[in-house]
Amino acid sequence: MLDSSPAPRGPSVHRSVYVHVPFCRHRCGYCDFTLVAGRDDLADRYLAALDRELDRVAPPTPGGRVELDTLFLGGGTPTRLTSPQLDRLFAAVFRRYRLAEGAEVSVEANPSDVTPELVDCLADAGVNRVSLGVQSFDADALKVLERDHAPADVPRVLETVRRRIENISLDLIYAVPGHDLAGWEATLDAALALEPTHLSTYGLTFEKGTAFWSRRRKGELISPPEESERAMYAAAMDRPAAAGFRQYELSSHARPGSECRHNRAYWCGDDFEAFGPGAANLLGGVRRMNHRGVLGWLRRVEAGEPPWIEEETLDPEERARELVMLNLRRVEGVVSDDFARRTGSAVDDLLGDDLVEQRRRGLVESDEAGVRLTRDGRFVADGVMAAFL
Ligand code: SF4
Repeated sequence: MLDSSPAPRGPSVHRSVYVHVPFCRHRCGYCDFTLVAGRDDLADRYLAALDRELDRVAPPTPGGRVELDTLFLGGGTPTRLTSPQLDRLFAAVFRRYRLAEGAEVSVEANPSDVTPELVDCLADAGVNRVSLGVQSFDADALKVLERDHAPADVPRVLETVRRRIENISLDLIYAVPGHDLAGWEATLDAALALEPTHLSTYGLTFEKGTAFWSRRRKGELISPPEESERAMYAAAMDRPAAAGFRQYELSSHARPGSECRHNRAYWCGDDFEAFGPGAANLLGGVRRMNHRGVLGWLRRVEAGEPPWIEEETLDPEERARELVMLNLRRVEGVVSDDFARRTGSAVDDLLGDDLVEQRRRGLVESDEAGVRLTRDGRFVADGVMAAFL
């Protein structure tokens, strides 16, 4: 039986906040994120609306601001904002929140935007982690992905960031059409040679509605064969490990101590608040999804309406199953004690025969400590999670 008592709401000592910054120079053909391309003219309206959205949750309170353990600016491209605009964004956040001692403040950055002035602006605001959208060290793959930097730019970019911020993650994409395992291994090696603290490695997906999705249907883009993609994922796990990184999530690899605390909080199932178009909140079992259109979100906030267009209260079983999905992304998987503390139930009881079946197929393993994907299971993680829904 699942405990039906609601989880406590209200301020907790440490919180995680995500701010979505929806601006990009150009929409890359594979991207289905919430953003506007070539509409930097909306930035000031966005910042004013963000201020209003923040007010709904946490009005400015100089004395009693909630303490944040992690703050993450994602996008879109946060570094598309000018330094004065970024200053304004941080000021709006820090009128409502203050950083806990040792808090992690991450910003996603496009390599083309990185200048010493930008890095000073970020570091002065308290940013201590930068996630660079490097994607590939193959010039042709970057062209396919419609990115606007060259592989040769990346060492200089890292050097510029490192003058003030040492914790640097590189985002990389594999299974780019026309690119093989050898090319992906070369990208991994080039990334590792630059000694980042963290790597995120994603397989390219073709989301319905994107330009890539249409181009694949027309035969203009052809994904690598499945076995090749599998070998690329294996390389994404093994090459960073050989260089001293530890995989701690399906796509995330870190030097010990450099795991992304913001994302870890999310995969642990901790509450978080999120602001901006398309942002999703989860607080006390209530999930709210902001309007996914940038203009739609702007209009709602400017009209004094709630920014969210969907609100769902998860029942105890839904919350428990969602927690399984999030936890299984982590290499340590579902930790029995923590799961029982958060949900009031035992994970084996919840998953029942489905767990037995996935274990029989060799895709998960379980013991007293908990339930986790096996190495084989990581290759088909989405399917395993779907079986537990
Ligand atoms: S830069 Fe990133 S967020 Fe912007 S369109 Fe390209 S992939 Fe999407």
